Amino acid sequence: MSAPVAPRIAYVNGRYLPLAEATLPIMDRGFLFGDGIYEVTAVLGDHFVDNEPHLARLDRSLRAIGIRNPHTIPEWTAIQRELVRQNDLKQGTVYIEVTRGTYEREFTCPDDIAPNVVMFTQAKNLLANPMAETGAAVITVDDLRWARRDIKSVALLAQVLAKFEAKHAGVAEAVMLEDGVVTEGASSTFFILSSVGVLVTRALSNSVLPGVTRSSVMRLARETGLPVEERPFTRQEMLAAREVFYTSASSFVMPVVAVDGEKISGGRPGPITKKLRAIYLEEAQKG
Ligand code: PLP
Repeated sequence: MSAPVAPRIAYVNGRYLPLAEATLPIMDRGFLFGDGIYEVTAVLGDHFVDNEPHLARLDRSLRAIGIRNPHTIPEWTAIQRELVRQNDLKQGTVYIEVTRGTYEREFTCPDDIAPNVVMFTQAKNLLANPMAETGAAVITVDDLRWARRDIKSVALLAQVLAKFEAKHAGVAEAVMLEDGVVTEGASSTFFILSSVGVLVTRALSNSVLPGVTRSSVMRLARETGLPVEERPFTRQEMLAAREVFYTSASSFVMPVVAVDGEKISGGRPGPITKKLRAIYLEEAQKG
């Protein structure tokens, strides 16, 4: 007889519940309007990778849309740890969502309604990800998003459509373009190693999410002596780049080996990308 499978446990407004019982009312504003914020942190054993900047960005995003942050950083961390413990999660992600709350379906609501908080974990093989060995193929798509992409909003319809396009094209990620210039990936930050050996990524602004992994990778790159430049780059420049990779909390540093069917770095992960992934993972696992 096989051992009984423990149910996944999610967190909803102070309670740890089996996933099937972890529900919100349909009048939740996250459900009705996409009126909420989310965060995702990678879990590697006992370590939550870059968790402080993720929780800081959660706070900044909530402030930006006028939702009260219901928890302090130590409170958030305690709930994350308890959820990871209850799910016996060894490797994967912990997801946080805070919506403005539950109210009659009206565009506005009182400023002081109680936010809804939902959290769950997802088990994932983040370290031994086979795509990190082969590299990822990506396609370019139009960036259809709103003007405040620096806010980590749960209103992700443009990204969902981009990801479906990528899926139907048989590739891993979509990189979004505005007037031929790269903004970012549907759920990642894009970097190129230019033809003169400079690491380039777009500067922070309202046009892109301030990636937590982006920031760590830029620091590590500078520490290894690699010049880093924050500026826009075009699709053409990306196609001509020595190396291309993307970063995110769950993919870490992911080599890109093809863009729109055209090979990058001979169709193999580039050496600088591999090195950055290795040093990022080394730091991430140290805790
Ligand atoms: N850009 C977008 C649009 C994203 O959705 C994400 C992650 O989900 C990122 C960038 C990468 O951010 P981070 O490294 O903080 O996960």
